[in-house]
Amino acid sequence: MSAAEGANQREIERVLVVGAGAMGSQIAMVFALAGHHVTIQDIAESGLTTARKQLEERMDTAVAKGRTSASAAQEALSRLSFTTDLGNAASAADFVIEAATERLEIKQQIFADLDRFAPPHAILATNSSTLGSSKVAKVTHRPEQVCNVHFFNPALVMKCVEVVRHPQTSQATVDIVMELVRKIGKQPVLINKEIPGFVANRLMGVLRDEALNLLGAGIASTEDIDTAAKTALGHPMGPFELMDLVGIDINCMIAEATYAETTDPADLPHPMLREMHQAGNLGRKSGKGWYTYER
Ligand code: NAD
Repeated sequence: MSAAEGANQREIERVLVVGAGAMGSQIAMVFALAGHHVTIQDIAESGLTTARKQLEERMDTAVAKGRTSASAAQEALSRLSFTTDLGNAASAADFVIEAATERLEIKQQIFADLDRFAPPHAILATNSSTLGSSKVAKVTHRPEQVCNVHFFNPALVMKCVEVVRHPQTSQATVDIVMELVRKIGKQPVLINKEIPGFVANRLMGVLRDEALNLLGAGIASTEDIDTAAKTALGHPMGPFELMDLVGIDINCMIAEATYAETTDPADLPHPMLREMHQAGNLGRKSGKGWYTYER
């Protein structure tokens, strides 16, 4: 019996989320709402304070809108704990998902530490959008228990979770993770090979770049292209609205990271996206992107 199969038999109860930013905080809440005990770890105390406050506010809104009961929200919040101490948090974890800053050296240090502190049966996942898990698996002694578990933004709302195996990820790990994702109410999508952008972001990239080409050629306005995507294709948001939500900087960063892997010039950030980034128009977070936002 491999260590990962050991995790299966134990049931995954305790979850550790590393990184309390936009993704980590909501991923933690998803697990807590599904009944797991979750520790959120971050190097920045301020990040933990912000995450706690934002999650409390989100739960207040969910209760006010009748999406969850006050008692369920309160119970889920009470299953969350916050710490800066990675060693202690990892020592009790059955499943770890890392959602720290998108820098390889940061993630490799985290995975080396997790490998040291987490119990042998624990599965170690990364939420990275661009870094295949083989890059962090290689600093551990349990590469077969490492994979990408890629949530979408906002994690509390988006149903899809991409489970990406690297060449050494074991079938037992894949089975456990797919089942775990189902149990937390999400829809897992299995990706059998590490590939830059995985699946959903590759599809989105094609749509985004075509939207930019159409705008650049004066074929239609941002509003009309977004309207076509929503009312003809059934997308909940248009490509320009989505770029603003995700952040123009993040869009550029993902494209740069993809290009670094593929060296295919088609993967470089679209020139219009780059221009927007250089002008400091980052989307919702800066108050201006393709659209203007009240702050
Ligand atoms: P973010 O910048 O909002 O948060 C990152 C957090 O990591 C910060 O709170 C930071 O203090 C913390 N951190 C940095 N170094 C750390 C360390 N050594 N140990 C513990 N915590 C550390 O980033 P985000 O947008 O939440 O992205 C996190 C991950 O999720 C990235 O890998 C990114 O690729 C992935 N992702 C992001 C999105 C998105 O739309 N933002 C979507 C899917 C996946």
